[in-house]
Amino acid sequence: MKCPVCGTDLSQYSYGGQTIDVCPECQGIWFDPGELKDVANEMIRQNVVPDQEAKEAFHVRSESTDRDEPMKLCPRCGEFTEVFNYSCDSNVFLNKCPTCHGIWADQGELERIARYLKGNPAVNRYVESLAKKVVSDSEQGIVSRLLRSRLLSGIIASVYLCAAIGTGDAKTIVNMIMFLILTLGCIWFSDAMGSYTGILSFPRPAITRRTPGIFIALAGWVLLLMPLVVGITLAVCCD
Ligand SMILES: [Zn+2]
Ligand SMILES: [Zn+2]
Repeated sequence: MKCPVCGTDLSQYSYGGQTIDVCPECQGIWFDPGELKDVANEMIRQNVVPDQEAKEAFHVRSESTDRDEPMKLCPRCGEFTEVFNYSCDSNVFLNKCPTCHGIWADQGELERIARYLKGNPAVNRYVESLAKKVVSDSEQGIVSRLLRSRLLSGIIASVYLCAAIGTGDAKTIVNMIMFLILTLGCIWFSDAMGSYTGILSFPRPAITRRTPGIFIALAGWVLLLMPLVVGITLAVCCD
């Protein structure tokens, strides 16, 4: 096979169980389908790939594949190759043969692919801590604190209980106690009643945590305030 850039005969080279074709003149490499990712992963495994730079990790995907260079022919089947953005957003532009799906990488592009696949551990940690902070901030918000307030819900519950005791009817008092156990349980122990999923940090950081606790507390409040709302509505209507 001949190099699609300079026409030199490609030499075979073995790496990580793969045989790749390298141009001894311009250092470009031909990868048959599947070989590129395997070779890049083997480089990462052997610890010869530096971390991706932080500014590379926070990049914007480049839409244009226009490159100011001559067309390249597939060294295997002679077809015109097509330029593509590796993994859609790496911004490393390689040439792919539409017929045999082999890939040509110019000098240095394999190392850039390996760095892209490796990523930057510091950036991943930073994004993960940011995600955790967003979750904890939203949990400590004023609405959330109000909804979980044991004092406020406790005062309202005491007023209800006093009113029930005031009727002197045992059945009313028992019903009220049952009602308050249910509603205060929802408000006071909303987190224990809910469930969590963690923060996903691989392959890309993302918040996957659900906070059903807050919804349980909200349901508790709706229940707790229901008698008050019904009572006020009745009082207004009867007037
Ligand atoms: Zn060459
Ligand atoms: Zn081809």
